[in-house]
Amino acid sequence: MTDTILAADRLSKHYFLGGQKLSVLKDISLSIDKGEFIVIAGSSGSGKSTLLSLLSGLDLPSSGTIAIAGRDITGLTEDQLAPVRNALTGFVFQSFHLIPSLNALENVMFPAELKKDPQARKKAENLLDRVGLLPRRKNFPEQLSGGEQQRVAICRALINEPEIVFADEPTGNLDSENSEGIIRLLLDLHRARQTTLVMATHSQTLASRADRIVRLHDGRIAGDTRAEQ
Ligand code: ADP
Ligand code: MG
Repeated sequence: MTDTILAADRLSKHYFLGGQKLSVLKDISLSIDKGEFIVIAGSSGSGKSTLLSLLSGLDLPSSGTIAIAGRDITGLTEDQLAPVRNALTGFVFQSFHLIPSLNALENVMFPAELKKDPQARKKAENLLDRVGLLPRRKNFPEQLSGGEQQRVAICRALINEPEIVFADEPTGNLDSENSEGIIRLLLDLHRARQTTLVMATHSQTLASRADRIVRLHDGRIAGDTRAEQ
């Protein structure tokens, strides 16, 4: 039995640039099951980041709807959406996006403090311990390597135990050794917690490890394949 955790219906996204309409995503319908590891693949400029930001509620579509855990998020105001996003999703960015003025522990605690979780510190320490960074908890982002910053960012994405973790080219700024560590960590956490993992990548090797690959070409879905069981 499968449960749909994320449903996108006829999404489109366009921008107006200098009076010209630029269509970035066209008629995307996609349903993602709870617990799936899905890769959004496609060449640079095909619309992967835009799709991830719509699916995660970071940005609004020009038309179409998105439901997370059965809840339509497209009609919500930013004030209504922010707590939903914070509770149900975690986002890992290519360039880490840690808050430079907060140390590692404070960065990880941040989403839990937003929802006034009294266990924020304890949970953050446990996560940092799990990724081997507890001794570095007082360090600021600039005192950490790229791989370490990304591990902190993954802890931050996981602290509220989200249903869905989005990762946009999470290894794009890392060397191959650090990349493998980050992927293994994301996959271990995905398996251990049965979270849904939606990852954008243009790496074929990485895509081949997913349960399902949705391929974008020029803003449209050009393929949707599942791995052999
Ligand atoms: P990918 O992540 O697959 O490389 P993106 O989703 O970043 O692709 O971009 C898809 C297309 O949308 C590109 O042509 C990009 O230039 C365009 N685009 C993305 N964001 C904006 C924006 N804010 N304004 C105008 N065009 C944009
Ligand atoms: Mg991108």
